[in-house]
Amino acid sequence: MNNKLYGNLIFELSKEGRRGYSLPKNQFGDYDIPASLCRNEDAALPECDEMTVVRHYTNHSENNFGVNNGFYPLGSCTMKYNPVINEEVANMPEFTGLHPLQPAATVEGALDVCEQLQQHLSAIAGLSRFTLNPFAGAHGELTGLMIIRAYHESRGDSKRTKVIIPDSAHGTNPASAAVCGLEVVEVKSTAQGYVDVNDLRGILDDTVAAMMMTNPNTLGMFEQEIPEIAKLVHECGALMYYDGANLNPMLGACRPGDMGFDVMHINLHKTFSTPHGGGGPGAGPVGVRAGLEQFLPGTSDARSLADVKAIDFSSADGGKISVGPYHGNYGVLLRALTYILTLGRENMKMVGPLATLNANYIKESLKDDYLLPIEGLCKHEFVFDGLRDKSTGVTTMDVAKRLLDYGYHAPTIYFPLLFHESLMIEPTENESKDTIDGFIAVMHQIAEEARTNPEIVKSAPHNTPIGRVDDVLAAKQPVVKYRDMV
Ligand SMILES: *Cc1c(COP(=O)(O)O)cnc(C)c1O
Repeated sequence: MNNKLYGNLIFELSKEGRRGYSLPKNQFGDYDIPASLCRNEDAALPECDEMTVVRHYTNHSENNFGVNNGFYPLGSCTMKYNPVINEEVANMPEFTGLHPLQPAATVEGALDVCEQLQQHLSAIAGLSRFTLNPFAGAHGELTGLMIIRAYHESRGDSKRTKVIIPDSAHGTNPASAAVCGLEVVEVKSTAQGYVDVNDLRGILDDTVAAMMMTNPNTLGMFEQEIPEIAKLVHECGALMYYDGANLNPMLGACRPGDMGFDVMHINLHKTFSTPHGGGGPGAGPVGVRAGLEQFLPGTSDARSLADVKAIDFSSADGGKISVGPYHGNYGVLLRALTYILTLGRENMKMVGPLATLNANYIKESLKDDYLLPIEGLCKHEFVFDGLRDKSTGVTTMDVAKRLLDYGYHAPTIYFPLLFHESLMIEPTENESKDTIDGFIAVMHQIAEEARTNPEIVKSAPHNTPIGRVDDVLAAKQPVVKYRDMV
């Protein structure tokens, strides 16, 4: 087992009597702590010198990979650079020192941050109003579907139990619908990767509550038939939901509200740059068009950071569901607002076109070596179906592992499910041409290795702290305790 990754536990570096700290003189020596509050024996704390502690944690931190270490083209996730100024603002004691229950009059500024962000998101999306409560995209989807259900209920229309979701959709879409108690009906994609409008026509009826769409879709394609789809969906009385996870390439180019969408979420951690590798933190504000504001949670004039109304769906399921105790993930909201204000209106308009240019440049540069199942202009991301030359036996998994040897984070693999060997690449707008050219060169190099020395790719990674893990064993027999591992 490689020593660097697992290192030793700080406890194992402990040497009795070693000190890395000194405490200030006890000014309260005259007062005894009541015996009932004292430990019976000393806590088992590691005893280390300062240098050991610093090296231990620094070495562990260096086993991490993030946008600040290198290129991170993880498709669908929009792993974009989080400017340092975002962190400075999010760490201002004026914000971090607030208590959610302190009197409203003392948090006017913090509440104003929420209102400003809400207004910017509404302007960017072309919608009327946003709630900042939901903690992630998936949480936003659930909130949005509950809003849609509440809307139908308010009209006394209780037979709408179905949600239409394209077969290319992210897994959270059907999951959110199921959690909301709605039935998922799949609509097919055409060979070109768009929602099949003819298939949709056959599915629509008065039991449909909503159509969920991601645009650009998970293949990176801008859905061509949105006006027609929105017309059909609205004609049958259902609402249009926009999964805004892929909003990045739309910034400054077009707005979901103008396309006919009624409800949407925005993944602030993606489009507006909070680091979110490893599952958090996130924020998934939900916006609605004019006329649906009353169904949003937390739209009362919140008088303190804690004063956010729960969604009241008493008519639907006899209870209340809170979608966030306070004002959502406040640190993420601060970063998003900082990002929006530092870019400003004019620079914001460059985000979408640059992200799109970078993705197309990579796609066109690599399609001689990698199989491109869907030709044509993509938006911020695209999908290869593995290596073009299938005779080598080198899989998408092998390519992804080999990329680690060259210091790159792997793209998203085996998603979307439409292809067997999906390799989904999203560079974002921030990367320089040099970085992107470096990535392209390495991807060509790996394709060349697959032809001439496939074993080196199949057995990768070779330069990482641990080699290839056994995915099946890791899933079936997860080792979650350090003691079992060594
Ligand atoms: C990331 C993503 C989601 C889910 O968002 P989370 O913030 O991870 O919950 C939904 N749909 C698409 C297309 C996504 O890329």
